[in-house]
Amino acid sequence: MIRSLLVANRGEIAVRIVRAARERGMRSIAVFSEPDRLAPHVLEADEAYPIGPAASAESYLRADKLIEVAKASGAEAIHPGYGFLAEQASFAQAVEDAGLIFVGPTPETIAAMGDKTEARRRMAEAGVPIVPGLTEAVTSPEEATAAAVQLGFPVLLKASAGGGGKGMRVVEAEADVKRAFEAAQREALAAFGDDSVYLERYLEQPRHIEIQVLGDAHGNVVHLGDRECSIQRRHQKLIEEAPSPVLSAEARAAMGEAAVQAAKAVDYRGAGTIEFLYHDGEFFFLEMNTRLQVEHPVTELVTGLDIVDWQLRVASGEPLNFGQEDVELNGHAIECRIVSEDPSTGFLPSTGVITRLETPTGPGVRWDGGVAEGFEVSPHYDPLLGKLIVHAPTRAAAISRMSRALDALVLTGVESSVLFHRRVMDEPDFRAGSFSIRYLEQHPELVEVADSASALRAAAVAAALLEEGHRRLHRTSRISGNGSNAISAWRASGWPWRRERP
Ligand code: ADP
Repeated sequence: MIRSLLVANRGEIAVRIVRAARERGMRSIAVFSEPDRLAPHVLEADEAYPIGPAASAESYLRADKLIEVAKASGAEAIHPGYGFLAEQASFAQAVEDAGLIFVGPTPETIAAMGDKTEARRRMAEAGVPIVPGLTEAVTSPEEATAAAVQLGFPVLLKASAGGGGKGMRVVEAEADVKRAFEAAQREALAAFGDDSVYLERYLEQPRHIEIQVLGDAHGNVVHLGDRECSIQRRHQKLIEEAPSPVLSAEARAAMGEAAVQAAKAVDYRGAGTIEFLYHDGEFFFLEMNTRLQVEHPVTELVTGLDIVDWQLRVASGEPLNFGQEDVELNGHAIECRIVSEDPSTGFLPSTGVITRLETPTGPGVRWDGGVAEGFEVSPHYDPLLGKLIVHAPTRAAAISRMSRALDALVLTGVESSVLFHRRVMDEPDFRAGSFSIRYLEQHPELVEVADSASALRAAAVAAALLEEGHRRLHRTSRISGNGSNAISAWRASGWPWRRERP
């Protein structure tokens, strides 16, 4: 039984883990960089310790400092969350060497699955279909060109150590391989300190569908169903749902089985995800994430299982107390990743102080947030502000619920993806479940700025609604209105926080 847990992360996931620890009766210990001194994850934890300045390399990525704080605070285990050190085998090893429990798989598993070429070799050996291509890195432009010609264009050059969509280059023709190879190598070296690059076939219109797995330290592995993650920008997810709207029962069962096989092949312990590309009934192993995923809540809502709680139980040595036949998928869940990016500029990051934040509530609505009013969104970290997640009996009902919840979400001070998400919920292809990883390219209208006439109309409506709200406030309470505060509830470039009615 673990009694105290250090959470080596920040933002919404640190808040999520702190809450899970508290429910398990564990003492929660947060860490923070200088600008995060008053961040929500710090305020929610039982204790919090500074680990350095803003730059991640000097704070959240400092394995030595994290272990030092764990020891000084008497933590028995460390949960890495996602990102930062979550998939660094050397960190997991250092945690174990310090006599602490790492909440995750073994360092060997992390290392094997962290290298995409090795993961592909292991999966092919285990009989799991992989995306056609190489299982070894290519070391020269000539070698890359020969391999690409043999595979057939288009091909995708990928960093073996890749993550977060970095170090990837699509190549359409032989003449372009050399340049793309050198660029992918450079980008891989800068992002991961490792310039190995390999090559696989670029599938033109696949869907990204993944399977959540959960294993214990006693050899049991189950899968918790699938997630549809095709709505992406820059190869990174923006909207996820469970279950996928396109999988047949047979395809779902086959992918689930393949995922369990994959996890067993690497003695998987804890929560992990096997990602696949899916096209016309065929599926191919893409990669394994040996950690908690951002999108785990949609699986929690359809299975009724608390994945973070299970991570903590497995780390404590508890065996899974249910089998595959006990896992049922109920209804439909959708998650929108609310990021501080401006969709109209190609999702460029936006920074600033959050001036207002009101999150929706109601049946089947969940907000996993990492920011609060007055909090400054800095350029140092991931742009994820929070996740809006809904659950309903059917996909159509989940889309209605998400639309309603997005309308009720008030977020000002930084540009965000709220309006984009709201538009997706109304878009016919999304509603029909008919899309691939190219969805965004095929729907440029989703990121267009409203024309000035409708922006002006929206601003006028927002002002009128504010005025109305103020009058009501004055009638019902003695608190006096403050004009400048109130005005911050809308921006001409944004979205009226109540919809215009004729
Ligand atoms: P990362 O580890 O950087 O996240 P992944 O291998 O998980 O990279 O791929 C991320 C995304 O890139 C996928 O969801 C998909 O959109 C795209 N992608 C990756 N491999 C291929 C491929 N062979 N063909 C087409 N798209 C791909």
